[in-house]
Amino acid sequence: MTNLATHLAKLRPHLDDVAARGLLNHIGGAAVGGVADRWFDATSPVDGSVIARTVRSDAADVDRAAQAARAAFGAWRDMPATERKAILHAIADGIAARADDIALCECWDTGQPWRYMARAALRGAENFRFFADRVASARDGQAMPSPGLMNITTRVPIGPVGVITPWNTPFMLSTWKIAPALAAGCTVVHKPAELSPWTARILIDIAEAAGLPPGVWNLINGTGPEAGRALTEHADIKAIAFVGASQTGAAIMAQGAPTLKRIQFELGGKNPMIIFADADLEAALDATLFMSFALNGERCTASSRLLVQAGIADRFEAALAARMDAIRVGHPLDPATEVGPLISADHAARVRSWIETGQREGAQHRVGRAEGQYIAPTLLTGARNDMRVAQNEIFGPVLTSIRFETEDEALQLANDSAYGLTGYVWTADATRALRVSERLEAGMVWVNTANLRHLPTPFGGMKSSGIGRDGGDWSLEFYMEQKHIGLGTRDPDVPRLGVGA
Ligand code: NAD
Repeated sequence: MTNLATHLAKLRPHLDDVAARGLLNHIGGAAVGGVADRWFDATSPVDGSVIARTVRSDAADVDRAAQAARAAFGAWRDMPATERKAILHAIADGIAARADDIALCECWDTGQPWRYMARAALRGAENFRFFADRVASARDGQAMPSPGLMNITTRVPIGPVGVITPWNTPFMLSTWKIAPALAAGCTVVHKPAELSPWTARILIDIAEAAGLPPGVWNLINGTGPEAGRALTEHADIKAIAFVGASQTGAAIMAQGAPTLKRIQFELGGKNPMIIFADADLEAALDATLFMSFALNGERCTASSRLLVQAGIADRFEAALAARMDAIRVGHPLDPATEVGPLISADHAARVRSWIETGQREGAQHRVGRAEGQYIAPTLLTGARNDMRVAQNEIFGPVLTSIRFETEDEALQLANDSAYGLTGYVWTADATRALRVSERLEAGMVWVNTANLRHLPTPFGGMKSSGIGRDGGDWSLEFYMEQKHIGLGTRDPDVPRLGVGA
């Protein structure tokens, strides 16, 4: 029977190993320290203990990694699709074989509960499998004949790319970006978040053990303003796939402008969960709880803004408060835990101050307690959409509840946001569901369901929530260049210059 003590015992050798080895960069197939020999401590949100000293890279380290990615590009691009596909499947096998180890380390590094992380590692394997199966068709194009021309299109990988990831579910998000980049034939420099660097190390070790050639994938640790910035500014890096905060996305756009960087951004959200009175309220309650508090509410697709129809609002909020009060907050490696510690003391202080801001703005604080980085699910009722707690992404277990009377009002409130990542709609009326889905300003809408990811579908946001889409062919589009080739099929009949009048 798995319990906290068993998990802690299984984690111990991994902690000893990472403490002894440190978290190094990985460049051209070798684990290396930084050029300048600078370090920072990666710590655990569980108890603040140091996990490992970690390389604090600067522009010189990024340059080494970018050069390695450039040197490896030609051979990786030209590797037969069957071989590349086999390597990506072997990486998926390696992830699946170590899913428990990865989940343990990720929980310790991020504070995310075991019950979600165990699956997140397996989803990482699925990302590799899905894109492994796309390798063979990635370069496929179209034939578009016209008089005198056989027009064909093909796709070629854009070149070495940079991948910059955040600290919430870092393992899964890294695979989500890196798998399609490799499938497309790009080489990669990955910079994981400085707050959760551990599982990126495990991932690259798995990839190289699976046969990935040296230099195809390089890892750079360090802070955003140093290593991240240098990556976005490097001339050999042709594109940046970024997951993180909207303000950081704006900074990356500016940093990448001089080198005309192609960018894809998955950014923040303040996603509305719209509950109409005719909905299946029991299912809507489950979805609201899951989408607001699973993963500690540190989730870009969290339904942090509840819009509930006035007639059922009292009943719904009371049921919500009762269930929230029973949510188990605790050690992330305890399989019973539903909400763990937030990523850092700074972040927990920010979340607490948002709760106070909500109260100052006039919202009622219904449930939720805080002890250090452990913040229990918190409900703010009686809120208005113009309050700061209704407009800003809190990125913690805090749900703001706002009431509406009519469908039009629900839509107006839902769309009155700088963000546009997801929307959730609960109603028994199918035509209303379609109407509302069509008018919601969101990149993704889920009707009568929580967020369920299907890998061929587009994932991404509108407005301040992002630029571009992940998933299926959308991912490959980003990592590849479309190329047109026109073949003449009749006498060229080119107008002749230099032959007199
Ligand atoms: P963040 O933007 O602070 O950091 C993300 C990454 O960017 C880190 O690796 C960081 O080091 C790096 N970075 C920071 N400044 C940089 C700079 N100037 N140049 C280059 N890189 C830089 O975000 P975070 O706090 O780690 O993550 C939380 C945010 O991520 C939330 O806003 C959340 O909504 C968003 N997120 C979005 C999605 C999505 O798919 N839309 C998924 C997960 C998280």
